[in-house]
Amino acid sequence: MTKAVHKFGGSSLSSASRYQAVANIILSQCSAGDSIVVSAAGKTTNTLVKLWQSHVQGDAQAVNDIVLQLQAQQSQLISELLQGEAARELLATLDDELRTVTSASQQAQLHEATLLAHGEVWSARLLAAYLNTLGVQARNWDARTLFTLHQGQLLEQKNQQACLSAIDGEHIHVVTGFIAADSEGQTVTLGRNGSDYSATLLASYIRADAVSIWTDTQGVFSTDPRKVASAIKYPKVCRGQANLLARLGNPVLHAKTLSPLKNTAIKLVVRSSYDPEASPTEVVKEGYSKAKRFITTLENCDLVRVEQLQAGEVRELSQLIQHSIHHFSQGAEVFLLVPAAFTHQVVHQLQGRANLVGSNLNGCAVVAPSNEVTSLYQQARQLLETQEVVVRASHIAQEYALFLTDQLIDADLLAVLHDRLITKGQELAVIIAGLGNVGEVFVAQCQEQIAHLQQSFDIKVVGLLRSNQMLFAASGITLSNWQSQWQNEAVSYTKADLLARIGELDYEHKVVIDITASESFSQLYPDFVSADCHLISANKYAGTAPNDWYQQLRSKLQERNLYWRYNTSVGAGLPINFALADLQNSGDKIVEVEGVFSGTLSWLCSRYDGSETFSELVLQAQQLGYTEPDPREDLSGRDMQRKLLILARDLGLTLDLDDIELSPLMPDSLAAGSWQDFLANRTELDTFYTAQVAAAAAQGKVVRYTGILQQSGATLTAKVGIAFVEPGSALANLTPGDNIFVIRSQWYQNNPLVIQGPGAGKEVTAAGIHSDLYWLIQQLK
Ligand code: ADP
Ligand code: ASP
Ligand code: MG
Repeated sequence: MTKAVHKFGGSSLSSASRYQAVANIILSQCSAGDSIVVSAAGKTTNTLVKLWQSHVQGDAQAVNDIVLQLQAQQSQLISELLQGEAARELLATLDDELRTVTSASQQAQLHEATLLAHGEVWSARLLAAYLNTLGVQARNWDARTLFTLHQGQLLEQKNQQACLSAIDGEHIHVVTGFIAADSEGQTVTLGRNGSDYSATLLASYIRADAVSIWTDTQGVFSTDPRKVASAIKYPKVCRGQANLLARLGNPVLHAKTLSPLKNTAIKLVVRSSYDPEASPTEVVKEGYSKAKRFITTLENCDLVRVEQLQAGEVRELSQLIQHSIHHFSQGAEVFLLVPAAFTHQVVHQLQGRANLVGSNLNGCAVVAPSNEVTSLYQQARQLLETQEVVVRASHIAQEYALFLTDQLIDADLLAVLHDRLITKGQELAVIIAGLGNVGEVFVAQCQEQIAHLQQSFDIKVVGLLRSNQMLFAASGITLSNWQSQWQNEAVSYTKADLLARIGELDYEHKVVIDITASESFSQLYPDFVSADCHLISANKYAGTAPNDWYQQLRSKLQERNLYWRYNTSVGAGLPINFALADLQNSGDKIVEVEGVFSGTLSWLCSRYDGSETFSELVLQAQQLGYTEPDPREDLSGRDMQRKLLILARDLGLTLDLDDIELSPLMPDSLAAGSWQDFLANRTELDTFYTAQVAAAAAQGKVVRYTGILQQSGATLTAKVGIAFVEPGSALANLTPGDNIFVIRSQWYQNNPLVIQGPGAGKEVTAAGIHSDLYWLIQQLK
């Protein structure tokens, strides 16, 4: 049986509803024997630190106020999550503890680490009690009974024994993060942000298989995603880079998190408790993922030069101030970057060996593959100069470049730096589904097109899929001979296989290009989005799916900064979706879109002149390959109805398919039954059609099959069906097989904007998909 450790940070426990969300994750993902490591709720540790500072300053009033604040916050959580005896018990214990804190402060007997430990103790106790009310056999552990340190060193054997005997297979174990005991039984902490470390320590002691760090972002990004919307989530980050980021003060993982994992196969992932479905970042062993680019910021640090720095001294200093201290050497000199609030303590501890060389500095570090660091260092320097940032000190090492300045690197500046330094040199993995007529041409065009795009972006086709088989190669498929690779290497697959292969891809960006006509494939879109794939579809099903599903997909895409292009689902390569988006983005208001959006129906109506019967034309079109295998698919008008719905949704209308009125281009009697029945009774189609032609002629008009979407005040007309049009009009003069879109808007009122041309065909459709791919790359650059 596999054993897992899940760690929930303060950001995942900041309110009663967040506890409930965490409990749901535990209910769905954990089983007996798993451990849950918790941090203090929200910013509780910060509040406790303030309490400690007030105590040190002898400010009894402030101590009292903060105690009241803590009491209010904790009792609110307890009362919202528990009832009756369970609530009363926890509230009473909380009261006792806070009373003890107040009197210890009054008697000058408060102990810093013991005070800070309360945050984690409260979280573990409350979460365990809440899980019990949900019927989960949860046990609550104070990590001071599990982890002991002697003179700052973990007592490995003792700890392992303690953990192995505590963590049985019958319960879910809720364990406090951040805290431990020394050999005298006094509380010690593992440093700010240290619960991540508690989780990996516990995992190593109990030989767990995996650790999940649940936080408020979906994983490890190229930069702080809360500051830069275009930050890239990396599916895999290697331990060395994660560790370096932590040492540079990045909060996403604590600096010691990775040390217990050394020489183990324990899997570590970072994932979001706000979005448990989203694909996580896996922190993998060296060599199991390529090095990535990151930019991380530093705030309010002092630069301290140290003489005769001893081995282990930085670790001791970090322990003393509870924060990680970054250090580096330049020539014979060693520098420390100390959070400014603690410089005094550090300098004091170093007893005359420390010199302050810069105070209250901010800055940033660019972490990158070692062969890119020098060039990024130079680019960053120039960029900072053009942004009028005065660099006070800088340092270049093998894996990163560091810049210190007096100015704050705010979100806007960070976005610029990220855009110029990080977004370059990335790879896009392309998965192509559907290798029919259009798909094959698309793949054939890919070779040349990718070579062209390669100048700005590294693109690799990693997957080719047919309905039952796939060819998948994470490092890229050679397109010049994909057919023979297909013969030798294509394998049958399930949905789970496909998603697993996509999940393993170590690329900055991924796109699934759907050139199938499969409804069931379109139903995988939410899974692709959860796996951080952009989407390009020629397939119409997702765009015309029920509105709830469609809206959920859209918001999921938006949350993850992913794009969905589907230009070829209407009018093949014709730029209709571009035109509609462009008009609306430029402030125009579209009032009507009318046209013929079916190549087959366009061909049939334009070709008909009475010299052949309508059903003969249908059979000809079928033989020429213009129609669906059963031409009634076209004659039903359903395909045009779908296209009109896609256009309507592009105009912001929340319609469903059945909101669009539909009348077919055949009598109802022919719609049911087999194709043989249709052939036997096809004169009914001819009678139906000639009657329409006669009725149109009586009005001096001709028959066309059109779709119309019209907004006039509050009235909306959306219909697809037979229309009688003026003989000289654009709709009537259509070249057989062409599509036409007639757009009327505020600016194109009397003289409409017309887009016309081939609306089907493998070359133009494949080219339209390339246009979507090109567009996507422009956005990612
Ligand atoms: P927790 O309370 O779960 O321990 P932390 O606040 O310690 O969470 O760490 C998560 C925060 O790290 C995120 O909210 C995010 O703002 C910040 N962060 C900074 N850089 C990154 C990055 N490169 N990737 C992900 N998150 C980052
Ligand atoms: N609660 C502690 C802190 O805020 C530990 C942690 O969150 O990991 O630093
Ligand atoms: Mg944290």
